[in-house]
Amino acid sequence: MTTGAAARGLHDGSVAEPARRTPVIAEADVVVAGGGPAGLAAAVSAARHGARTLLVERYGFLGGMGTAGGVTNFAGLYGQRDGTMVQLVRGVVDELLERIDHLGGLNAPQDGLQGRIRVRSYDIPAYKCAADAWLAAAGVTPLLHASVVGVAHDEHDAARLHALLVETKSGRGAIRARWFIDASGDADVAHHAGVPYELGDGHGDALYPSTMFRVGGVDAERALAAVGRFGAIDALMRAAAGRYRFPRDGAVLRPQRNPSEWRVNVTQVANAVGRAVDATDAWQLSAGEAEGRRQVIEYLRFLRAEVPGFERAELIDIGTQLGVRETRRVSGAYQLSGDDVLGGARFADTIGLNAWPIERHAAGRIEWAFARDARNTFNQLPWRMLLPQRASNLLVAGRCASMEHEGQSAARASGACFAMGQAAGTAAALMLRDGLTPHSVVPALQQALRRDGAELGADG
Ligand SMILES: Cc1cc2nc3c(=O)[nH]c(=O)nc-3n(C[C@H](O)[C@H](O)[C@H](O)COP(=O)(O)OP(=O)(O)OC[C@H]3O[C@@H](n4cnc5c(N)ncnc54)[C@H](O)[C@@H]3O)c2cc1C
Repeated sequence: MTTGAAARGLHDGSVAEPARRTPVIAEADVVVAGGGPAGLAAAVSAARHGARTLLVERYGFLGGMGTAGGVTNFAGLYGQRDGTMVQLVRGVVDELLERIDHLGGLNAPQDGLQGRIRVRSYDIPAYKCAADAWLAAAGVTPLLHASVVGVAHDEHDAARLHALLVETKSGRGAIRARWFIDASGDADVAHHAGVPYELGDGHGDALYPSTMFRVGGVDAERALAAVGRFGAIDALMRAAAGRYRFPRDGAVLRPQRNPSEWRVNVTQVANAVGRAVDATDAWQLSAGEAEGRRQVIEYLRFLRAEVPGFERAELIDIGTQLGVRETRRVSGAYQLSGDDVLGGARFADTIGLNAWPIERHAAGRIEWAFARDARNTFNQLPWRMLLPQRASNLLVAGRCASMEHEGQSAARASGACFAMGQAAGTAAALMLRDGLTPHSVVPALQQALRRDGAELGADG
């Protein structure tokens, strides 16, 4: 078998496809690519503000990494304000939380890292069902099982997108819209549109991906006594290191709503040269899936043999796909930096808050860095980080928005992605409705976001 670059070296390395005309299968005011936290919030917000909105998602369900990647946990919603831990990311996300809770799928807030963070875990099926109902209630049209594979530009204006090209079970189709929001996590639309972006850390590495999994049948009381304390699981891993192959130091091991079910965040998947799998490379991604599952089985062996309460643990789920933390980050009008996160940056064009610290998944370890002001652990997110260059009707929201590698290591958490999505969807609808531009929309956008319950921070 000859694959990848080697195959491209054969003959002229390509095959000719017949030219074709692609049918327009839908038209909307706003089309959102991707149904993760950013895409869901964007689509609901655009529809609420009067835009005919369509959301394209490659899987048959919504939730993004939160469901497909097996994340099962909302981080970045809570942070310290004036020394008190409160929910800082609010707005349309509150409706989703209520819907998941109504289905009995949302856990009470849990504190971690010695009280420096607060998260909420959830059940994946409840998230999927709540997201379906949420889009329907807002009047968003979903197109599931549809992958964005290209764009068509306006024939008179190279900076303007005319349509997304999608592949579906019924063939290839074009979806026309007036505004496009790239919430694909991997900046797929931006990539096809030819706008500038960076990949990973810019030096052939990135935040390492992890295959997430959950185990059931845990004796909750004994497990909590053994590994409920900060650092306890890391100590057990160090003691057993000679007997198992651990891909990184330390694990994040937490109970779900049902306390006999625990989520395990411990794998770390590298490519053939030991760098983070590049999830925009089909061959690396493919190999990474099998390697992640191999690590799951190895860690389960450790849990059963070495960790009190896990003796009868059963593997109940492995993420549908490798959990991808970072691929392409668009180079937009402003790139959120690590120092913005640590210094609690304030921006006049704030559209929401990030309340998560820097969580760098580096080779063999996780590196944390916290806001310098421990009493106020959040930073504002500027509107400019949603604005790519060289595209006049495209916004980018979520983990592929315009951020430096260090800034993305924080604002990629779900909380900030919901905030960015709400801002992108609201802005697209307002620009269409009121004839505003990306430059003139900010005051109206901030007003609408506040009215819709979003926290922008005091100075915005
Ligand atoms: C292992 C792991 C653990 C994590 N732990 C936590 C945690 O505990 N708490 C937390 O809050 N965050 C956590 N995160 C981060 C968080 O889950 C993500 O960063 C967040 O989901 C990003 O949201 P998003 O909407 O930008 O992108 P995503 O969640 O990646 O969603 C993108 C969506 O776009 C779809 N899509 C992609 N390409 C296409 C295409 N070409 N056509 C159509 N659809 C497409 C995808 O299927 C997906 O549904 C974790 C991430 C990983 C990988």
